[in-house]
Amino acid sequence: VKSSRQLGSWKLTLKCQGLVVYPTSVEDVSKAVLFSTANSLHLATVGGGHATSGSSSTHGGLCIDLSKMRIVTVDVEKKTVTAQGGALWEHVDAELAKYGLGAVGGTVNHTGIGGLTLGGGYGYLSPRYGLTIDNLLSVELVLANGKIVTASETENKDLFWAVRGAGAAFGVVTSFTYQAHDQNNDVWGGMLVFPPPLLAEVMAFANTILEGPQGDKVMLVGFGAPPPAHQPVIMAIVFYNGSEEEGKAFYEPLLKLGPLANMTTVMPFSSANSMLNPAMFAGLRRTMKGTQCPPRSTKAS
Ligand SMILES: Cc1cc2nc3c(=O)[nH]c(=O)nc-3n(C[C@H](O)[C@H](O)[C@H](O)COP(=O)(O)OP(=O)(O)OC[C@H]3O[C@@H](n4cnc5c(N)ncnc54)[C@H](O)[C@@H]3O)c2cc1C
Repeated sequence: VKSSRQLGSWKLTLKCQGLVVYPTSVEDVSKAVLFSTANSLHLATVGGGHATSGSSSTHGGLCIDLSKMRIVTVDVEKKTVTAQGGALWEHVDAELAKYGLGAVGGTVNHTGIGGLTLGGGYGYLSPRYGLTIDNLLSVELVLANGKIVTASETENKDLFWAVRGAGAAFGVVTSFTYQAHDQNNDVWGGMLVFPPPLLAEVMAFANTILEGPQGDKVMLVGFGAPPPAHQPVIMAIVFYNGSEEEGKAFYEPLLKLGPLANMTTVMPFSSANSMLNPAMFAGLRRTMKGTQCPPRSTKAS
Protein backbone atom coordinates (compact mmCIF):
# COMPACT_ATOMS: atom_id res chain seq x y z
CA VAL A 1 0.00 0.00 0.00
CA LYS A 2 1.41 3.37 -0.90
CA SER A 3 -0.30 6.69 -0.47
CA SER A 4 0.73 10.29 -0.36
CA ARG A 5 -0.96 13.43 0.81
CA GLN A 6 -0.28 17.13 0.35
CA LEU A 7 -0.16 19.02 3.64
CA GLY A 8 0.57 22.70 3.09
CA SER A 9 3.96 22.74 1.41
CA TRP A 10 4.82 19.21 2.62
CA LYS A 11 4.18 16.10 0.67
CA LEU A 12 3.77 13.22 3.11
CA THR A 13 4.31 9.73 1.80
CA LEU A 14 3.13 6.70 3.69
CA LYS A 15 4.47 3.35 2.62
CA CYS A 16 3.18 0.22 4.20
CA GLN A 17 4.25 -3.06 2.73
CA GLY A 18 2.41 -6.14 3.79
CA LEU A 19 -0.69 -8.18 3.32
CA VAL A 20 -4.18 -6.86 3.89
CA VAL A 21 -7.23 -9.06 4.24
CA TYR A 22 -10.84 -7.90 4.31
CA PRO A 23 -12.83 -10.56 6.19
CA THR A 24 -16.61 -10.60 6.04
CA SER A 25 -17.26 -13.06 8.87
CA VAL A 26 -15.85 -14.13 12.21
CA GLU A 27 -14.73 -17.41 10.60
CA ASP A 28 -12.70 -15.42 8.03
CA VAL A 29 -11.07 -13.49 10.87
CA SER A 30 -10.18 -16.72 12.63
CA LYS A 31 -8.57 -18.09 9.44
CA ALA A 32 -6.56 -14.87 9.02
CA VAL A 33 -5.32 -15.00 12.62
CA LEU A 34 -4.28 -18.64 12.22
CA PHE A 35 -2.52 -17.78 8.94
CA SER A 36 -0.52 -15.04 10.64
CA THR A 37 0.55 -17.22 13.57
CA ALA A 38 1.39 -20.16 11.27
CA ASN A 39 3.60 -17.86 9.18
CA SER A 40 4.98 -15.79 12.09
CA LEU A 41 3.55 -12.61 10.60
CA HIS A 42 3.15 -9.48 12.67
CA LEU A 43 -0.60 -8.89 12.94
CA ALA A 44 -2.48 -5.61 13.03
CA THR A 45 -6.25 -5.14 13.26
CA VAL A 46 -7.84 -2.15 11.53
CA GLY A 47 -11.14 -0.84 12.90
CA GLY A 48 -11.80 2.77 11.91
CA GLY A 49 -8.12 3.43 11.21
CA HIS A 50 -7.91 6.43 13.59
CA ALA A 51 -5.02 5.19 15.74
CA THR A 52 -2.47 7.96 16.16
CA SER A 53 0.25 5.51 17.25
CA GLY A 54 0.28 3.46 14.06
CA SER A 55 -0.91 0.40 15.97
CA SER A 56 -3.40 -0.53 13.26
CA SER A 57 -0.79 -0.92 10.54
CA THR A 58 2.24 -3.11 10.00
CA HIS A 59 5.30 -3.20 7.79
CA GLY A 60 5.72 -6.64 6.33
CA GLY A 61 2.98 -8.24 8.43
CA LEU A 62 -0.71 -8.92 7.98
CA CYS A 63 -3.47 -6.31 8.38
CA ILE A 64 -6.93 -7.61 9.19
CA ASP A 65 -9.05 -4.75 7.91
CA LEU A 66 -12.57 -5.03 9.33
CA SER A 67 -14.13 -2.42 7.03
CA LYS A 68 -16.35 -5.04 5.41
CA MET A 69 -17.82 -5.97 8.80
CA ARG A 70 -20.06 -3.03 9.67
CA ILE A 71 -23.52 -4.51 10.24
CA VAL A 72 -25.42 -2.94 13.14
CA THR A 73 -28.56 -4.42 14.72
CA VAL A 74 -30.74 -2.94 17.44
CA ASP A 75 -32.78 -4.88 19.99
CA VAL A 76 -35.51 -2.34 20.61
CA GLU A 77 -37.04 -4.26 23.54
CA LYS A 78 -33.79 -4.56 25.46
CA LYS A 79 -32.45 -1.22 24.18
CA THR A 80 -29.19 -2.81 23.16
CA VAL A 81 -27.15 -2.46 19.99
CA THR A 82 -24.79 -4.99 18.45
CA ALA A 83 -22.26 -3.85 15.86
CA GLN A 84 -19.62 -5.74 13.92
CA GLY A 85 -16.03 -4.92 14.81
CA GLY A 86 -15.33 -2.71 11.79
CA ALA A 87 -18.31 -0.38 12.24
CA LEU A 88 -17.83 3.36 12.67
CA TRP A 89 -19.82 5.37 15.20
CA GLU A 90 -21.83 6.95 12.36
CA HIS A 91 -23.26 3.52 11.56
CA VAL A 92 -24.23 2.88 15.18
CA ASP A 93 -25.67 6.38 15.70
CA ALA A 94 -27.74 6.22 12.51
CA GLU A 95 -29.27 2.85 13.35
CA LEU A 96 -30.08 3.82 16.95
CA ALA A 97 -31.61 7.14 15.87
CA LYS A 98 -34.32 5.20 14.00
CA TYR A 99 -35.60 4.00 17.39
CA GLY A 100 -35.07 7.16 19.45
CA LEU A 101 -32.01 5.67 21.12
CA GLY A 102 -28.40 6.76 21.56
CA ALA A 103 -25.14 5.16 22.71
CA VAL A 104 -22.02 6.48 24.40
CA GLY A 105 -19.83 6.80 21.32
CA GLY A 106 -17.21 9.27 20.15
CA THR A 107 -17.57 12.96 19.37
CA VAL A 108 -16.31 12.47 15.79
CA ASN A 109 -18.49 9.90 14.13
CA HIS A 110 -15.98 8.61 11.55
CA THR A 111 -13.98 7.09 14.42
CA GLY A 112 -14.14 3.29 14.62
CA ILE A 113 -16.09 1.65 17.43
CA GLY A 114 -13.22 -0.88 17.73
CA GLY A 115 -10.30 1.25 18.88
CA LEU A 116 -12.49 3.72 20.77
CA THR A 117 -14.29 1.07 22.80
CA LEU A 118 -11.23 -1.05 23.50
CA GLY A 119 -9.41 2.01 24.85
CA GLY A 120 -12.26 3.19 27.12
CA GLY A 121 -14.16 5.72 25.05
CA TYR A 122 -16.05 8.86 25.92
CA GLY A 123 -18.55 11.11 24.18
CA TYR A 124 -21.34 13.60 24.72
CA LEU A 125 -23.41 11.09 26.70
CA SER A 126 -20.55 10.23 29.10
CA PRO A 127 -21.53 12.70 31.82
CA ARG A 128 -24.86 10.86 31.99
CA TYR A 129 -23.90 7.25 31.36
CA GLY A 130 -20.14 6.90 31.86
CA LEU A 131 -17.49 5.64 29.49
CA THR A 132 -18.21 3.52 26.44
CA ILE A 133 -16.83 0.49 28.30
CA ASP A 134 -19.28 1.12 31.16
CA ASN A 135 -21.99 0.49 28.58
CA LEU A 136 -20.36 -2.51 26.93
CA LEU A 137 -22.36 -5.69 27.58
CA SER A 138 -20.40 -8.30 25.64
CA VAL A 139 -17.93 -8.89 22.85
CA GLU A 140 -17.28 -11.69 20.40
CA LEU A 141 -13.59 -12.03 19.67
CA VAL A 142 -11.04 -14.22 17.97
CA LEU A 143 -8.10 -15.21 20.14
CA ALA A 144 -4.52 -15.78 18.98
CA ASN A 145 -5.21 -19.52 18.67
CA GLY A 146 -8.08 -18.83 16.27
CA LYS A 147 -10.74 -19.69 18.84
CA ILE A 148 -13.98 -17.67 18.65
CA VAL A 149 -15.23 -16.75 22.13
CA THR A 150 -17.75 -14.47 23.81
CA ALA A 151 -16.78 -12.37 26.81
CA SER A 152 -19.26 -10.70 29.16
CA GLU A 153 -20.00 -10.40 32.89
CA THR A 154 -21.18 -14.01 32.82
CA GLU A 155 -18.90 -15.62 30.21
CA ASN A 156 -15.09 -15.42 30.24
CA LYS A 157 -15.34 -12.74 32.90
CA ASP A 158 -11.58 -12.14 33.22
CA LEU A 159 -11.26 -11.62 29.49
CA PHE A 160 -14.18 -9.18 29.57
CA TRP A 161 -12.43 -7.23 32.34
CA ALA A 162 -9.22 -7.10 30.28
CA VAL A 163 -10.93 -6.16 27.04
CA ARG A 164 -12.39 -3.01 28.65
CA GLY A 165 -9.31 -0.84 28.37
CA ALA A 166 -6.66 -3.08 26.84
CA GLY A 167 -8.84 -4.96 24.40
CA ALA A 168 -6.71 -4.50 21.32
CA ALA A 169 -4.07 -6.69 22.97
CA PHE A 170 -6.34 -9.69 23.57
CA GLY A 171 -7.84 -10.59 20.24
CA VAL A 172 -9.73 -9.37 17.21
CA VAL A 173 -13.18 -8.24 18.32
CA THR A 174 -15.70 -9.11 15.66
CA SER A 175 -18.78 -7.86 17.48
CA PHE A 176 -19.61 -5.43 20.30
CA THR A 177 -22.94 -5.29 22.18
CA TYR A 178 -23.73 -2.09 24.07
CA GLN A 179 -26.47 -0.80 26.32
CA ALA A 180 -28.27 2.00 24.48
CA HIS A 181 -30.33 4.76 26.10
CA ASP A 182 -33.47 6.73 25.33
CA GLN A 183 -32.53 9.75 23.25
CA ASN A 184 -35.79 11.00 21.80
CA ASN A 185 -35.09 14.68 22.28
CA ASP A 186 -33.03 16.88 20.01
CA VAL A 187 -29.97 18.51 21.52
CA TRP A 188 -28.50 22.01 21.28
CA GLY A 189 -24.89 22.84 20.65
CA GLY A 190 -22.17 23.82 18.21
CA MET A 191 -19.02 25.85 18.01
CA LEU A 192 -18.38 29.26 19.55
CA VAL A 193 -15.26 31.08 18.39
CA PHE A 194 -13.53 33.55 20.74
CA PRO A 195 -10.48 35.81 20.38
CA PRO A 196 -7.37 34.82 22.44
CA PRO A 197 -7.73 37.64 25.04
CA LEU A 198 -10.92 35.93 26.31
CA LEU A 199 -9.12 32.69 27.18
CA ALA A 200 -9.27 33.21 30.97
CA GLU A 201 -13.02 33.93 30.86
CA VAL A 202 -13.75 30.95 28.59
CA MET A 203 -11.79 28.56 30.81
CA ALA A 204 -13.34 29.99 33.98
CA PHE A 205 -16.77 29.18 32.53
CA ALA A 206 -15.62 25.68 31.46
CA ASN A 207 -14.60 25.02 35.06
CA THR A 208 -18.04 25.96 36.39
CA ILE A 209 -19.49 23.00 34.45
CA LEU A 210 -17.70 20.70 36.89
CA GLU A 211 -19.14 22.46 39.91
CA GLY A 212 -22.83 22.02 39.10
CA PRO A 213 -24.96 18.90 38.65
CA GLN A 214 -23.66 16.67 35.86
CA GLY A 215 -25.44 14.89 33.09
CA ASP A 216 -26.51 17.15 30.29
CA LYS A 217 -23.63 19.35 29.28
CA VAL A 218 -20.25 18.93 27.71
CA MET A 219 -17.79 21.61 26.67
CA LEU A 220 -14.67 20.96 24.61
CA VAL A 221 -12.06 23.66 24.11
CA GLY A 222 -9.55 23.82 21.27
CA PHE A 223 -7.17 26.28 19.71
CA GLY A 224 -6.61 26.79 16.02
CA ALA A 225 -6.19 29.21 13.14
CA PRO A 226 -9.05 28.23 10.84
CA PRO A 227 -9.76 29.64 7.38
CA PRO A 228 -10.45 32.20 6.01
CA ALA A 229 -8.52 34.49 8.43
CA HIS A 230 -6.00 31.88 9.71
CA GLN A 231 -5.66 33.89 12.93
CA PRO A 232 -5.32 32.13 16.31
CA VAL A 233 -8.70 31.68 18.02
CA ILE A 234 -10.28 29.72 20.86
CA MET A 235 -12.86 27.22 19.69
CA ALA A 236 -15.40 26.15 22.30
CA ILE A 237 -17.67 23.30 21.36
CA VAL A 238 -20.72 23.33 23.58
CA PHE A 239 -23.34 20.60 23.95
CA TYR A 240 -26.59 20.56 25.88
CA ASN A 241 -28.78 17.47 26.03
CA GLY A 242 -32.04 19.39 26.20
CA SER A 243 -33.94 22.25 24.60
CA GLU A 244 -32.45 25.34 22.96
CA GLU A 245 -33.89 27.54 25.72
CA GLU A 246 -32.29 25.44 28.45
CA GLY A 247 -29.00 25.27 26.56
CA LYS A 248 -28.87 29.01 25.95
CA ALA A 249 -29.76 29.72 29.56
CA PHE A 250 -27.01 27.46 30.86
CA TYR A 251 -24.36 28.82 28.48
CA GLU A 252 -25.51 32.45 28.85
CA PRO A 253 -22.30 33.62 30.57
CA LEU A 254 -20.30 32.25 27.65
CA LEU A 255 -22.64 33.67 25.00
CA LYS A 256 -22.50 37.05 26.74
CA LEU A 257 -18.73 37.19 26.19
CA GLY A 258 -19.49 37.97 22.55
CA PRO A 259 -18.15 35.16 20.37
CA LEU A 260 -16.63 36.09 17.00
CA ALA A 261 -18.76 33.33 15.48
CA ASN A 262 -21.69 31.39 16.88
CA MET A 263 -22.51 28.12 15.09
CA THR A 264 -24.83 26.69 17.73
CA THR A 265 -28.10 25.13 16.60
CA VAL A 266 -30.73 22.53 17.48
CA MET A 267 -29.97 19.10 16.03
CA PRO A 268 -30.75 15.42 16.45
CA PHE A 269 -28.31 13.66 18.80
CA SER A 270 -26.87 11.64 15.91
CA SER A 271 -25.86 14.91 14.20
CA ALA A 272 -24.11 16.18 17.34
CA ASN A 273 -21.54 13.46 16.78
CA SER A 274 -20.80 14.89 13.34
CA MET A 275 -20.46 18.58 14.21
CA LEU A 276 -16.71 18.22 14.71
CA ASN A 277 -16.19 16.20 11.52
CA PRO A 278 -15.29 19.17 9.29
CA ALA A 279 -12.51 20.18 11.68
CA MET A 280 -11.28 16.61 12.12
CA PHE A 281 -10.69 15.41 8.58
CA ALA A 282 -7.98 12.84 7.92
CA GLY A 283 -4.47 14.14 7.36
CA LEU A 284 -4.76 17.19 9.60
CA ARG A 285 -2.05 17.53 12.24
CA ARG A 286 -3.37 18.21 15.71
CA THR A 287 -2.73 17.53 19.36
CA MET A 288 -5.52 16.19 21.53
CA LYS A 289 -5.71 15.73 25.28
CA GLY A 290 -8.37 13.72 27.05
CA THR A 291 -11.21 15.60 28.67
CA GLN A 292 -12.35 14.91 32.20
CA CYS A 293 -15.17 12.50 32.76
CA PRO A 294 -17.26 13.75 35.68
CA PRO A 295 -19.18 11.46 38.02
CA ARG A 296 -22.25 9.95 36.47
CA SER A 297 -25.65 11.18 37.56
CA THR A 298 -27.29 7.99 36.34
CA LYS A 299 -25.72 4.56 36.54
CA ALA A 300 -25.59 2.72 33.21
CA SER A 301 -28.09 -0.10 33.38
C1 LIG B 1 -10.51 12.65 14.86
C2 LIG B 1 -10.51 11.82 16.10
C3 LIG B 1 -11.51 12.03 17.07
C4 LIG B 1 -11.55 11.27 18.23
N1 LIG B 1 -12.56 11.48 19.14
C5 LIG B 1 -12.64 10.68 20.24
C6 LIG B 1 -13.72 10.81 21.16
O1 LIG B 1 -14.60 11.65 21.03
N2 LIG B 1 -13.77 9.96 22.21
C7 LIG B 1 -12.81 9.00 22.41
O2 LIG B 1 -12.92 8.24 23.38
N3 LIG B 1 -11.77 8.86 21.56
C8 LIG B 1 -11.66 9.68 20.49
N4 LIG B 1 -10.61 9.55 19.62
C9 LIG B 1 -9.56 8.58 19.92
C10 LIG B 1 -9.96 7.23 19.30
O3 LIG B 1 -10.90 6.61 20.14
C11 LIG B 1 -8.71 6.32 19.15
O4 LIG B 1 -7.81 6.91 18.26
C12 LIG B 1 -9.13 4.94 18.69
O5 LIG B 1 -8.05 4.06 18.85
C13 LIG B 1 -9.57 4.93 17.23
O6 LIG B 1 -10.18 3.71 16.94
P1 LIG B 1 -10.30 3.21 15.43
O7 LIG B 1 -10.96 1.88 15.44
O8 LIG B 1 -10.86 4.28 14.57
O9 LIG B 1 -8.76 3.10 15.04
P2 LIG B 1 -7.82 1.91 14.54
O10 LIG B 1 -6.58 2.61 14.10
O11 LIG B 1 -8.49 1.05 13.54
O12 LIG B 1 -7.60 1.06 15.85
C14 LIG B 1 -6.98 1.58 17.03
C15 LIG B 1 -6.42 0.40 17.84
O13 LIG B 1 -7.47 -0.49 18.19
C16 LIG B 1 -7.27 -1.78 17.55
N5 LIG B 1 -8.58 -2.23 17.07
C17 LIG B 1 -9.48 -1.52 16.34
N6 LIG B 1 -10.57 -2.25 16.12
C18 LIG B 1 -10.36 -3.45 16.72
C19 LIG B 1 -11.13 -4.64 16.85
N7 LIG B 1 -12.36 -4.73 16.32
N8 LIG B 1 -10.59 -5.68 17.53
C20 LIG B 1 -9.34 -5.59 18.08
N9 LIG B 1 -8.58 -4.50 18.00
C21 LIG B 1 -9.09 -3.43 17.32
C22 LIG B 1 -6.27 -1.55 16.43
O14 LIG B 1 -5.51 -2.70 16.14
C23 LIG B 1 -5.40 -0.43 17.03
O15 LIG B 1 -4.47 -0.98 17.94
C24 LIG B 1 -10.55 10.29 18.46
C25 LIG B 1 -9.53 10.10 17.50
C26 LIG B 1 -9.51 10.85 16.34
C27 LIG B 1 -8.42 10.63 15.32
